[in-house]
Amino acid sequence: MTKDDFCDIDIFMTGLKRRNPAEPNFHQAVHEVIESVMPIIRDSQAYRDASILERITEPDRIIMFRVTWMDDQGNVRANRAWRVQFNNSIGPYKGGLRFHKSVDLDTLKFLGFEQTFKNSLTGLPMGGAKGGSNFNPKGKSDAEIMRFCHAMMTELQRHIGEDTDVPAGDIGVGARELGFLFGQYKRLNNRFAGVLTGKGLSFGGSAGRKEATGHGAVYFLKEMLAHRGDGFDGKTAIVSGSGNVALYAIDKLLELGAKVVTASDSSGFIHDPDGITADKLEWLTQLKEVKRGRISEYAEHFHCEFHAGQRPWMIPADLALPCATQNELNHKDALTMINNGIQAVAEGANMPSTTEAVIAFHKAGVLFGPAKAANAGGVAVSGLEQSQNALRIAWTHQQVDEKLQEIMKDIHQKCVQHSELNNGVVDYVKGANVSGFIKVADAMVAYGAI
Ligand code: GLU
Repeated sequence: MTKDDFCDIDIFMTGLKRRNPAEPNFHQAVHEVIESVMPIIRDSQAYRDASILERITEPDRIIMFRVTWMDDQGNVRANRAWRVQFNNSIGPYKGGLRFHKSVDLDTLKFLGFEQTFKNSLTGLPMGGAKGGSNFNPKGKSDAEIMRFCHAMMTELQRHIGEDTDVPAGDIGVGARELGFLFGQYKRLNNRFAGVLTGKGLSFGGSAGRKEATGHGAVYFLKEMLAHRGDGFDGKTAIVSGSGNVALYAIDKLLELGAKVVTASDSSGFIHDPDGITADKLEWLTQLKEVKRGRISEYAEHFHCEFHAGQRPWMIPADLALPCATQNELNHKDALTMINNGIQAVAEGANMPSTTEAVIAFHKAGVLFGPAKAANAGGVAVSGLEQSQNALRIAWTHQQVDEKLQEIMKDIHQKCVQHSELNNGVVDYVKGANVSGFIKVADAMVAYGAI
């Protein structure tokens, strides 16, 4: 293969698929970035000489290990876990840990790849990584979760550090898990350092971190709407998910004057045409974060509809925030939403829309905020948590929130600057990919053949 072949998207993708067989999520994430950046590669002799595309799509390293733990019945259990250290060109590796039965290497490679560009977009010095396990937290007791987290950290601790790799939470890893993970790190190393983010407020966590991804996604949506002279007043939103991202996205949407009519979990979605109020949201937060119950209980409690096994995309609305998981919104869903008059979509989850869905939104002139821009608020406040830990200080909630708003504004600005108009609408996918890519690629060129 010649250097010029790397300028042909199809030839490049054929090679990438051959090198990474049976990894459809990773292929999807890479293809989207490659499509956006290929014109820059064609124009840049320096990037071509440095084989940037070939290098930036190859993780620096992948650590794979067994996690052995004991369940409440005394059975010895074994899970598989990974840390994908994708790229540390612009800072220590940074990215969450996911515990879910669907976790495999494909998922973590796509997430680590996306994280590299997302972290670059925040403007903070963070490389990209992702990790996790196929451990299924559903139905596990607190004691089982603790034993699993301690066992996971027993192995992971040798690969992380505040200047090396700083994991955080993701699906299935929240405040409870991060407490167990940090406790075990501290016990094994006898060091109190900022090696994880999303920590509890009493042991080095940042004010505003738990709200950051959801609030950040709504701040990004606010920027997209404002850019075309619009706002939230009188708008209805459909949200998927009911985890950390969804709950705080709903919270900020309500504060800014939108009406939110849906939320979901893996069993289905609720449709509350009167709107989820602040009181109902408080109840839902208790249900999901404390009781760890099912979303159908919301429908029973507040007497609204529960649609078992479905996603909320058929409910007419002006705004949509997919905040559950990857590929949860497909082409058919996008067409339904377009027919129903959707105006803007902001991705709270990572890669929730399929490639075909994104194309449909672009064709229809729908404002589309891709995950690596729209949900970057979470990792951005993780970056602020790292800074506070390094300085041994704690900023107030207001200080962190102001910085988060500035960062989301700045990301929006970078997207606009690096994009082009698609059907008269800013192409945020292109803007995010190009802007995130250039910073990482320039650093890689500066280092020489590493
Ligand atoms: N898991 C989150 C993400 O997808 C946060 C990562 C972090 O804070 O390091 O960006």
